[in-house]
Amino acid sequence: MRKFVDYPVFRNIGKIADDLQFPAYVVGGYVRDCFMGRPSTDIDIVAVGSGIILAERFAAELGKNVKVSVFKNFGTAMINYHGESDWQIEFVGARKESYRHDSRKPIVENGSLEDDQNRRDFTINALAIALNRENFGELIDPFGGLKHIDERVIQTPLDPDITFSDDPLRMMRAIRFATRLDFEIEPNTWSALERNAERIKIVSKERITDELNKIILTAKPSRGFKMLESTGILQLVFPQFQLLKGVDYIDGKGHKDNFYHTLKVLDNLSENTGNLWLRWAAILHDIAKPATKKFEKENGWTFHGHEFIGAKMVPSIFKHLKLPLNEKMKYVQKLVQLHLRPIAIAEDHVTDSAVRRLLFEAGEDIDDLMMLCEADITSKNREKVRRFLKNFQIVRQKLIDIEEKDRIRNWQPPITGQIIMETFDLKQGRVIGEIKTAIREAILEGEIKNEFDEAYNLMIKKAAELGIQPKKEN
Ligand code: ATP
Ligand code: MG
Repeated sequence: MRKFVDYPVFRNIGKIADDLQFPAYVVGGYVRDCFMGRPSTDIDIVAVGSGIILAERFAAELGKNVKVSVFKNFGTAMINYHGESDWQIEFVGARKESYRHDSRKPIVENGSLEDDQNRRDFTINALAIALNRENFGELIDPFGGLKHIDERVIQTPLDPDITFSDDPLRMMRAIRFATRLDFEIEPNTWSALERNAERIKIVSKERITDELNKIILTAKPSRGFKMLESTGILQLVFPQFQLLKGVDYIDGKGHKDNFYHTLKVLDNLSENTGNLWLRWAAILHDIAKPATKKFEKENGWTFHGHEFIGAKMVPSIFKHLKLPLNEKMKYVQKLVQLHLRPIAIAEDHVTDSAVRRLLFEAGEDIDDLMMLCEADITSKNREKVRRFLKNFQIVRQKLIDIEEKDRIRNWQPPITGQIIMETFDLKQGRVIGEIKTAIREAILEGEIKNEFDEAYNLMIKKAAELGIQPKKEN
């Protein structure tokens, strides 16, 4: 244990606590991660006394320009520490929390270390190591957290019905830690999840989405979503996703289960990217399949237009989850809308103009789109997968060749609306758009080069067709 705290930072905090004559401990994630051999960037310090005073004294010893962020309401203080390592250190006074059934806000009082450990979410998160001189390095593990790390088990320190009912977000935290650490949830704790799922409703959307994002950012998010689904929590926090689950049969023909398919895509993608928004695009790429599902006698199950309807659904889902309604959302929308395009090109004869068009529409997100599309190949038919991946290689190469030749990525056509208006002495209007579109289409189709002169000539020609002549120079 001692080796985990054998750093100047912990010795110094311990000494100051000795001076202030109260006990101090390092607790929670840092201790857990040390035992698991995982790197940790956050340190949580609990003082059985004032965490804020401890933080201020510690900062003062570090030097004049060390900033302490104090959150009086929560009784916490934070320091960004740059010493043996870069750490964010949070100081808090030991707390006792009592909850009433009808409220999400606990009554918080000062408490002992034991009170503080009792209010923690899981045994593996309730480990504390003492920092005072008399017991420096001693592990306080009242609930068998160390054993549970060894057994790879998530278990609440108290009766799980109480722990989860007090703060229902802990249910999602249980699933998050199980997913991230690849632990099992202990059976009693698991049944309490099923029993208390409904209580998630009293938790704020922001906290829920924060936890959802953390699950999404694990190495294998499908595991977390399957647990959310089978406990009944998914239905309550993200019903649109739940709707993907299930298979319909008509004339003995079923379609694939889009919930499990989507999770496979998400896992595939997660092997190649830590980009949260790209992962969200994977989650939402088929979100409109339930809404567009049809059985056609000739073709079987179809989901026509699910990419467009899906893109249209993105804003309401983002709003529902309180995700940002900004360029991140637009990015997800774009990927959902375009997610079939690379595969459609790959299935067909790969033409220059199709690739040029895709480059134009995807712009700088083309690489992410390709990654999503490749992850979307989940067929069990190995021959089919091999063929797709091979064609994909061709699309990728074509993308490179055409980008090199035509510079379509982040491209603006060489003739602007302004130029058209000035040349023909026109005001803003439909004609300008028509001429612009004709030029853009001609370039994308490869009929003219992506150059000013050719585009200018086409502009004159197109305008003449519309009965418009350039203005006379005086
Ligand atoms: P990480 O920061 O790596 O995600 P962590 O264990 O540090 O993991 P935090 O959310 O930073 O998790 O919380 C720090 C500690 O505070 C936890 O280890 C746990 O002991 C306690 N904790 C946090 N949130 C809760 C909660 N909702 N209920 C009970 N205890 C909690
Ligand atoms: Mg933490």
